[in-house]
Amino acid sequence: MTATHSTRMLVLGSGPAGLTAAIYGARAGMAPIVVQGMQPGGQLTITTDVENYPGFKDVIQGPWLMEQMQAQAEHVGARMMYDSIVEVDLSQRPFRLIGDGGTVYTGDVLVIATGASARWLGLESENLLQGKGVSACATCDGFFYRGKKVVVIGGGNTAVEEALYLTNHSQDVTLIHRRDSLRAEKILQERLFAHPNIKVLWNKTVERFVGDGDPEGLVGVELRDTETGALSTIDTDGAFVAIGHSPATEIFRGHLRLDSEGYLDVETGSTRTSVPGVFACGDVMDKVYRQAVTAAGTGCMAALDAERFLAEADFVMEPA
Ligand code: FAD
Ligand code: NAP
Repeated sequence: MTATHSTRMLVLGSGPAGLTAAIYGARAGMAPIVVQGMQPGGQLTITTDVENYPGFKDVIQGPWLMEQMQAQAEHVGARMMYDSIVEVDLSQRPFRLIGDGGTVYTGDVLVIATGASARWLGLESENLLQGKGVSACATCDGFFYRGKKVVVIGGGNTAVEEALYLTNHSQDVTLIHRRDSLRAEKILQERLFAHPNIKVLWNKTVERFVGDGDPEGLVGVELRDTETGALSTIDTDGAFVAIGHSPATEIFRGHLRLDSEGYLDVETGSTRTSVPGVFACGDVMDKVYRQAVTAAGTGCMAALDAERFLAEADFVMEPA
């Protein structure tokens, strides 16, 4: 028989946004259930040093911070489910969602905090060589390139942090960026430029990841100069694509209003989506700030918006 879990407040996602919503929701008596998804703890679990989350004078570790947030949420009464939602029915309340093993979740209100996932360049060679030298997570895979040559593609905070992190393993790190200036924070740029083992290739895009051997593995990257159009190839053992993230909103397409880039649309100054009783927080609705602290902040807003909605709604809870 299919299991069904019912709650006042259903939360999708266990990054800073979802867990903060759960902490506030539990304290407000909404007995939240958190469906954690494929990445319990969210994006911060694939990074190391976190230096800008308020409250900690010393550098803390991303995975540790998320363990603490989950422990806090559970301590105040939130329930964690190790499942991912694959189907949603938002046409009536309680909202009905289905997990990938068929488990049914219902919630009088729904808080969506499904965040974002790594974006790829979309090259055929990238697809072929993923896991064979091409990666999107230096903290996950950097260790495999101890003493080898690596490149990082991108010019934002993630790319710069990945390049700096990779120097723990490699003495030869190259950052490849499509323009002649980075968008990463100044403090990170300063660290990057000062590092003796990192060089930067400006105005270059990746034309092709080059594989060789049996089994095939990455041996180089073919680059195109954006100013001259000239092609060149550099040798490398590992390539880390760090060109940003896409919001995890596919399952909501056709159910909730999305913006032109696929982010969940919310009313300005609130977390209310296009369906009353459904709230969105964190990176899934924020393409501007995308920080752990802003995700946590909007998670708090979503729980408060949800609480108000339930208090005002002329709504009788269905029996479980
Ligand atoms: P996420 O952290 O993306 O979490 C999304 C959650 O949704 C996950 O638990 C996932 O499993 C779940 N989920 C997805 N789909 C489903 C589904 N279908 N069903 C159920 N659950 C689902 N920010 C900082 O402030 N400081 C930093 O130092 C910093 N470093 C970073 C380093 C890296 C490498 C990266 C990638 C990001 C970094 N960020 C940093 C940004 C920060 O991690 C994000 O802004 C923040 O994690 C967003 O939180 P979120 O809760 O919105 O989403
Ligand atoms: P981002 O800020 O969106 O940067 C993406 C980078 O990739 C940009 O430099 C972009 O180039 C480049 N890019 C995009 N598409 C490309 C393509 N097809 N080919 C080549 N290059 C491409 O993404 P992010 O660095 O992942 O950061 C996401 C958010 O998380 C940001 O808000 C960031 O502040 C936050 N974050 C914070 C920290 C921190 O606080 N320490 C760490 C990591 C991430 P252009 O510059 O030319 O557009």
